[in-house]
Amino acid sequence: MSPMFVPGPVDVAPEIMAAQSRPMLPHRAKEFEAIFHRAADKSRALFGTQSRVLLNAASGSGLHEAAVRNFVHKKMLICANGAFAKRWHDVAVSNGKDADLLDVDWQLPLLPEKVAEAVKGKGYEAVAFVHNETSTGLMNPAQGIAAAIRDASPDSLILVDAVSSLAGAEMQMDTWGIDFVLTSSQKCLALPPGLSLAAINDRAMDKAKTVENRGWYFDFVRLETHRLKDTTPATPAIGLIYALDLQMDRILAEGLENRYARHKAMADCAASWAEAHGFGLYAPEGYRSHTVTTLMNTPGIDMPALKAFLLQRDTRIAGGYGKIKDTTFRIGHMGELTLADVQTLLAAFEEFMGKTR
Ligand SMILES: *Cc1c(COP(=O)(O)O)cnc(C)c1O
Repeated sequence: MSPMFVPGPVDVAPEIMAAQSRPMLPHRAKEFEAIFHRAADKSRALFGTQSRVLLNAASGSGLHEAAVRNFVHKKMLICANGAFAKRWHDVAVSNGKDADLLDVDWQLPLLPEKVAEAVKGKGYEAVAFVHNETSTGLMNPAQGIAAAIRDASPDSLILVDAVSSLAGAEMQMDTWGIDFVLTSSQKCLALPPGLSLAAINDRAMDKAKTVENRGWYFDFVRLETHRLKDTTPATPAIGLIYALDLQMDRILAEGLENRYARHKAMADCAASWAEAHGFGLYAPEGYRSHTVTTLMNTPGIDMPALKAFLLQRDTRIAGGYGKIKDTTFRIGHMGELTLADVQTLLAAFEEFMGKTR
């Protein structure tokens, strides 16, 4: 099997697949509680937090809903420069929240001063944004944005979607002053889909206790009560917890700095290849994602033919997403992939382009 270059779900290492097929344990068994505790505890390093990480069976979108239900009575702001932040806004509105949208050009980063201007004096209970926009291949300057929100609106909780960056790019939620970070298993963590991870600090947890109608399944207060006993209110995704426990060992053995550098090197390689071969890059320099590259199809290559050509080599890339679906395509370079894998893919692109020229 050749690796695939889509921004989730990504290839999973064979030993992680094997870990999932170990015999089930009842989730109230002491043996399972120990694994559950370990897995969550180790994952805190990825978030850069001393606070808790809640594990729940869901994809990341479940936590978009959980965040608005737990942290907001009424009024919040979502800052959007891509499709996933737009979705978070839809989720907030469909949960009856009074959610404003700061709608920024998709080819521009969220700039701290713009965000500060949008939050000042508005009394937002929470301000949400996406760290790494998987649609546009743009990584927002999370540290600067968080600092600007803290400064302009100290009482607003800061909520961050790090679905396609966590475990592939640095996140320091405690020192950057972020209150809540959500992610899911099938992107840079390189696990199968189905597990969501939420890091929540005490400030956010205290706010949740005051919010009504948090729901049941994703009630962070209920989940926290159970977490303190190393369990969950409902049946956890047992196999995925086994997998996370082992994957965290593999990630920590690689070293976080090395892992982030590996992702950055793949991004740099994809970007310089694109520029050398006449493809525009959708995201501006300085804000390009380390985990996914969005290329504009400037040379007008036949995308269905390219995809078919790659499939013959047992590999895949991703098309565009959202409103830029037809004009862009994406190379996901996250999880277990290496620079050599990306170089092999780019060589295949060249072969294809040589054939069709
Ligand atoms: C994939 C993705 C999501 C959606 O996550 P699911 O786990 O598919 O629900 C949300 N935000 C970003 C930035 C993503 O890349």
